[in-house]
Amino acid sequence: MCDYCNNICLIDHFDTPRDYLKCLEYIKGLVDHGLFIIDSQTCPIDKVENDNGCWSDDIITHIIVCRKCGSAYTCICDTYHGKGEFREGR
Ligand SMILES: [Zn+2]
Repeated sequence: MCDYCNNICLIDHFDTPRDYLKCLEYIKGLVDHGLFIIDSQTCPIDKVENDNGCWSDDIITHIIVCRKCGSAYTCICDTYHGKGEFREGR
């Protein structure tokens, strides 16, 4: 962590799908502002739900990396079991 990503808002667990989608919006904002880059993802952030409103996958992962210090942060959601988190590391 550096002073750049020190203030990142991590989430121990998502209580609802809405929490997950809010977190993705947050991550998208971080990337859009150029503070972080997407390192890997199972699908684009705005495509976690397909046209039918279903989740694109059972496990959806987005890993972002701080541009300054290279720290990785993982947002993972197990849509099948309905749990997920946004944590440090990959
Ligand atoms: Zn950093």
